[in-house]
Amino acid sequence: MIFTPEKGMFMENRICKSAKKCGGCQYQGVPYEEQLKKKQKQVEKLLGKFCKVSPIIGMKDPYHYRNKVHSAFGRDRKGNIISGTYEASTHNIIPVEDCLIEDEKCQEIIRTIRCMLKSFKIKTYDEDTGYGLLRHVMVRRGFQSGEIMVILVLGSPILPSKNNFVKALRQAHPEITTVVLNVNDKRTSMVLGEREIVIYGPGFIRDRLCGCTFRISPKSFYQVNPVQTEILYNIAMKYAGLTGKETVIDAYCGIGTISLIAARNAGRVIGVELNKDAVRDARINARENQIRNVEFRQGDAGEFMLAMANGGQHADVVFMDPPRAGSDEKFLSSLIRLAPSRIVYISCGPESLARDLKYLTKHGYAVKKIQPTELFAFTEHVECVCLLQKDNCKIFER
Ligand code: SAH
Repeated sequence: MIFTPEKGMFMENRICKSAKKCGGCQYQGVPYEEQLKKKQKQVEKLLGKFCKVSPIIGMKDPYHYRNKVHSAFGRDRKGNIISGTYEASTHNIIPVEDCLIEDEKCQEIIRTIRCMLKSFKIKTYDEDTGYGLLRHVMVRRGFQSGEIMVILVLGSPILPSKNNFVKALRQAHPEITTVVLNVNDKRTSMVLGEREIVIYGPGFIRDRLCGCTFRISPKSFYQVNPVQTEILYNIAMKYAGLTGKETVIDAYCGIGTISLIAARNAGRVIGVELNKDAVRDARINARENQIRNVEFRQGDAGEFMLAMANGGQHADVVFMDPPRAGSDEKFLSSLIRLAPSRIVYISCGPESLARDLKYLTKHGYAVKKIQPTELFAFTEHVECVCLLQKDNCKIFER
């Protein structure tokens, strides 16, 4: 039994059978309390020079939190169908059963699909020869809605007996609400291809976060840990300190989660996002939640910020939530010119965050708060929310 620091609850320390080979969880075998301490230390080392780092917010239950589960399909040396994860730096599939961080229902569905392949005469794809059909299965589950999306990634667009396949799959798992074929005929390490064919249901799932409903398409980003995401977004909102009048930019906005939550307390919100499907989701999400003071632009966030700065536009608050690699010079230099009084930087990469904070603090901003938040238990990844303010502004406290 181990002790989690923030809630004072006890928790068993479960052992993963695939940990050594899988490599997905760098902290398997490390007691949860210890993992949190390591992450705290890591963030303090990288970011402590900017501002005092608040204690990390851990999870009450660090198991089975991932609402998106991906499995690569193939055959072992004996020709048996296997599914699992790629061994680090290779394309060898390591069979994974009972992953401790993935949603259990999603894993169950993947097992069912694996068992169905033989009777439906569906061959797994062979990366060396390009022969075969099924490459990957991805399952996403709406944590609050319970809606489930199954994505079958195929090397070619035809799934034999697709109606019967869906029928049999739904017989075993009636909670599946949509099934999508994704066609990936390229010799690539990217999981998803461009083309999608919906073979059952609407082609997306919905989920609820912070009182808004969000539709999520197969290729759209959505945080994998819904319980902690609400905590993360609430901190981001607190840091933004919106009063109802502000002009807000939500850069790297995905399906518009932060935009819509912020819009309830802002004058106007503009979200910008590169992924076309995510922008379509974001626009529909605004409509479905009856939020009218928000608009979405599709394109590179840096280009958008540059155009805003060149056009002499103004923003009071900028949320930015870039991918792990962080932001870029074009974005950051335009951000400085736009000169919002507050920047709320959400980051899943403390190294790139440190680099970007260095730039922003050199150009007139001060880091006021840093809050590490656990989104990825058992892995070494750590999420942080930071509040930056213009040096001459007084800190907004709530
Ligand atoms: N804020 C959202 C999404 C964060 S993930 C949420 O909390 O759900 C980062 C997002 O940045 C992804 O949706 C990705 O598609 C998008 N992205 C990546 N590069 C980008 C770029 N150059 N310009 C705009 N968006 C980008």
